[in-house]
Amino acid sequence: MIHNFNIIYDRGKVFTMVVTRFAPSPTGYLHIGGLRTALYCYLWARKNKGKFLLRIEDTDLARNSKEAADAIVKAFEWVGLDYDGEIVYQSNRFDLYATYVQKLLDMGKAYKCYMSKEELDALRESQIANKERPRYDGRYRDFSGTPPQGISPVIRIKAPTEGKIVLHDGIKGEVVFNVSDMLDDFIIARSDGTPTYNFVVTIDDALMGVTDVIRGDDHLSNTPKQMVIYEALGFKIPQFFHVPMILNPDGKKLSKRDGATDVMEYQHDGFLPEALLNFLVRLGWSHGDQEIFSMEEMLTWFNPKDINKSASAYNKEKLLWLNAHYIKQASYGYLMDVLKPFGVDLVACEKRERLLDVIKERAKTVQELAALAQQILDKPLHYDQEAIEKFLSKESLNLLGQYAQALKNEPTLNSAHDFENFTKSFLNEQGVKLKDLAPIIRIAMVGSSTSPAIFDILEIIGYSEVIKRIEQLISTQEGEKR
Ligand code: GLU
Repeated sequence: MIHNFNIIYDRGKVFTMVVTRFAPSPTGYLHIGGLRTALYCYLWARKNKGKFLLRIEDTDLARNSKEAADAIVKAFEWVGLDYDGEIVYQSNRFDLYATYVQKLLDMGKAYKCYMSKEELDALRESQIANKERPRYDGRYRDFSGTPPQGISPVIRIKAPTEGKIVLHDGIKGEVVFNVSDMLDDFIIARSDGTPTYNFVVTIDDALMGVTDVIRGDDHLSNTPKQMVIYEALGFKIPQFFHVPMILNPDGKKLSKRDGATDVMEYQHDGFLPEALLNFLVRLGWSHGDQEIFSMEEMLTWFNPKDINKSASAYNKEKLLWLNAHYIKQASYGYLMDVLKPFGVDLVACEKRERLLDVIKERAKTVQELAALAQQILDKPLHYDQEAIEKFLSKESLNLLGQYAQALKNEPTLNSAHDFENFTKSFLNEQGVKLKDLAPIIRIAMVGSSTSPAIFDILEIIGYSEVIKRIEQLISTQEGEKR
């Protein structure tokens, strides 16, 4: 029998609504490569007012765990990609898969194969010895005799034996698979009755009405098998988009060290989900030279057919740059929320808006933002030794003491502007320059000679606390000298 497969797909004629899905296997956390795929699926569905579905591919009971599945869902919540309907868990659908295996048997499109492991091994060895590609030889395909005793059969699908399968991939273009190079009557159900990976993926995509399968190109070689199953069951074949991988800056496979980690690690390291999504959308897709994309802009411009054909390179600096951008433009309330898990609660801080204005200019991550906030909000527990050695002397401490004394006569100082005017006239009287006083004020305020704009931090710390911090520095230094 000769099958000449030439599946030409025309979505416009077949489907009315775009349905995409993200289908992670819960073998670990949600990886950023996975999140990029999910984002592309999400954008394409939302842009078309279609549906974005989430399916957990947890049929491999030995390798999958409930914790991993929950972690993936949690990561999804963090980035805010909302999916439609309930999550589909494949592990709940074994009965359903069995009915489709049976359907194929009933239609004569699948059959029981009773080959033993020894027979399969022998076949394989002789094919290798003859320099042939190891493949199942179809010996039970048209079998009608008495099955051998004591063997639980596997179920194999009748795949084409010759010809080509042509995939019109939305990214890669036309991909031609030669049947003789890569297909045989592959197994759709194992001898214990459990369905195989390609079978369940196909059944689910078809039953869930998925029109557009956007996934990593590591799945490209599964696609002809899945197309065979679609055809056998008379299901419509979706549009496939196989997305190239993310590489490290040296063009190698992205490793953990390069950033191929759990999406939640990014939260832990102080990245905002907006920055991460913006970063990921650009890894493999572009719209002119634009780098910064709001969600609306992504939805306006994204189209999976514009995804690059070649792999893209991960660039941590760019992610940091985007993160700094999103921190700068975030609202006060949002920054307060994201700071909380980093141990900074600004609810009781009167000057929080001033504080956030000052520090957000200097932070690339929420972690840095939190450290800057803490540096200003908490009195210094210790002082940077290098700064002390460089800037503190008897004279400078003396000057600082006089500054505190003068401050005490000005209890109404409040704004940065007030502190600036006051300090300037103090410096005039003393005949000293700001560059001689500023570092020691900084050491007194935040423990180091670097800080955001000095008068801003005086305003934020507040008049009486400013005096207390100066006195604390003076007393610890006098203590040192004694
Ligand atoms: N479960 C597969 C994975 O995590 C994805 C399958 C698919 O998208 O078709 O790689």
